[in-house]
Amino acid sequence: MGPFEHPQNSYYAATANPFGERPALAGAVTADVCVVGGGFTGLSAALNLAERGYKVVLLEQARIAWGASGRNGGQVNLGLRKGPEDLIAAFGQERARALFGMAEESRRIVTERIARHGIKCDFKPGTLHAASKARDCGWMQDEIDCLERQFGYRGARYLDRAAVRQELGSDIFHAGVLDSGGGHLHPLNYALGLAAAAEAAGVQICEQSRVTRIEKGTLNRVETSGGAVSAKYVVLACNAYLGDLEPRIAGKIMPIANFIIATEPLSEAEAREVIARDVCVADTKFVVSYWRLSADRRLLFGGGERYSTQPPADIKEFVKPYMLRVYPQLAGKRIDFGWGGMLAITVSRLPHVGRMDNVFYAHGYSGQGVAVTGIIGQLIAEAVAGTAERFDLFAAIRHQTFPGGTLLRHPLLVAAMLWYAMRDRL
Ligand SMILES: Cc1cc2nc3c(=O)[nH]c(=O)nc-3n(C[C@H](O)[C@H](O)[C@H](O)COP(=O)(O)OP(=O)(O)OC[C@H]3O[C@@H](n4cnc5c(N)ncnc54)[C@H](O)[C@@H]3O)c2cc1C
Repeated sequence: MGPFEHPQNSYYAATANPFGERPALAGAVTADVCVVGGGFTGLSAALNLAERGYKVVLLEQARIAWGASGRNGGQVNLGLRKGPEDLIAAFGQERARALFGMAEESRRIVTERIARHGIKCDFKPGTLHAASKARDCGWMQDEIDCLERQFGYRGARYLDRAAVRQELGSDIFHAGVLDSGGGHLHPLNYALGLAAAAEAAGVQICEQSRVTRIEKGTLNRVETSGGAVSAKYVVLACNAYLGDLEPRIAGKIMPIANFIIATEPLSEAEAREVIARDVCVADTKFVVSYWRLSADRRLLFGGGERYSTQPPADIKEFVKPYMLRVYPQLAGKRIDFGWGGMLAITVSRLPHVGRMDNVFYAHGYSGQGVAVTGIIGQLIAEAVAGTAERFDLFAAIRHQTFPGGTLLRHPLLVAAMLWYAMRDRL
């Protein structure tokens, strides 16, 4: 894979809607806001800001959605990565309700944007959370109850073992939660649609424009090798690819690699057998497996994390055993694509959002960013415009630095992850 291309063996790159290359930043430019990073976070913030009348320049080091946003499972999930009861325990009822409400709003933002901007990204409604362990059944029932009673959310329904077997054509799950909200989409095409909408709203997008330095001041100066943007506000939306651009926040997130494969297209009957309602699915293992059907009926299956910086030698062979554990009947199917990407997690698994003077940042969605980036972009725009109440609800979440800081966080995380992955197997 060249550094500036979408991963070549990705199903998404192979089926991307046309979107021409955008010229790199050249020379000196001024703007109200400079957004660094052309994934969902950066695009969502840029679009919202431009819609409010701000002059926005977005700098992306590679191509639009080259990072996690163009490579992920495309699942538009419920809530945040912390369950409703955990949210209440951590923040009390009122704040938990507000955070959950914003996460739910973010799913509406996704579907509204698809409709408003006519984004062709194969959106299909519905998600299913499948219980890998017998003990998941209890908390799943409690969770549905809590969603209804505390948050007034009525879209989720409990499935017993027989019902989940019928939905998924697999014997290994004990129960499930079927959610009529959310759904799944082609993430690269969704991002390209957001980019087109942002440009139509006036955003200047520069690709192949890696930010190497930010000189802070009343006017921040954001530098690339080809030019510089002077802007009062900066939005850092680099997620797992932040590197050492802003050391003050880098230790709050941990980049980890995750991988997906796509089978050859299945027949209609085979597709219905593996996911009867065409919803997206995730299991409850610590190292989560997640899957869904593409518009051309391939099974897109994500599974297996890696905590080393080296990808596995053969991604298809690395992920396939996870798929066969769920669907042994697919053993004979050809695997046409296998690719990976980097996401960022936080210790709490809640997004790390905040500002340092006029530099805003948001990252670390911990596998939940397809939807949540929608509201975060909106909150950043609200905060820039001077109304930070909702932004502050996220910004007030306290985040631990990963033990060992940026230097040692990786070996320590590897040890912890391997321990939990081993518990999955036991
Ligand atoms: C394999 C995989 C599967 C996933 N599945 C799901 C899922 O099903 N559902 C879900 O909700 N979430 C999922 N996620 C997570 C989700 O993709 C992310 O939360 C989301 O895309 C984050 O968007 P972002 O814009 O913050 O980051 P990214 O999309 O990673 O974008 C950051 C961008 O910043 C650019 N950048 C970095 N540094 C610089 C610099 N110095 N100068 C200029 N540009 C820079 C990068 O090139 C990149 O394009 C998955 C992630 C992966 C990797």
